Amino acid sequence: TIGMVALDAQGNLSGACTTSGMAFKLHGRVGDSPIIGAGLYVDNEVGAATATGVGEEVIRVVGSFLVVELMRQGYSPEAACKEAVMRIVKKKPEKAKEIQIGFLALNKKGEHGAFCLQQGFSYAVTTGETPEQEQLIKG
Ligand code: ASP
Repeated sequence: TIGMVALDAQGNLSGACTTSGMAFKLHGRVGDSPIIGAGLYVDNEVGAATATGVGEEVIRVVGSFLVVELMRQGYSPEAACKEAVMRIVKKKPEKAKEIQIGFLALNKKGEHGAFCLQQGFSYAVTTGETPEQEQLIKG
């Protein structure tokens, strides 16, 4: 999945995501990306979140909605992403190492964060129009 969340100069939040789905998926499978609340959720009062990884697991906890609701309760973007991943892992502790899921979040203040249990998860942040204003954050 490629997920994007944004905060514009007027303070409005938005988000988008796109995916090729999972390898060897069954014909007709619907992943989390096209389901609002699962692969993507934006609440202009609170924040925006998007997910990547095993869509079935993300759908079960309405993952991106969960991340935004946790931010509404005061969690930082990173803490909210971590809590959502851990909620999934808690249901299947024996598969914790295999289930690859990552969340990325941005709040109304422009604070951002992400969490994924697997190494190598990174995201890019840009605050301007030039490449110099872009930053790669490794998880
Ligand atoms: N979340 C996607 C899906 O389950 C997979 C991905 O991360 O691209 O369809």
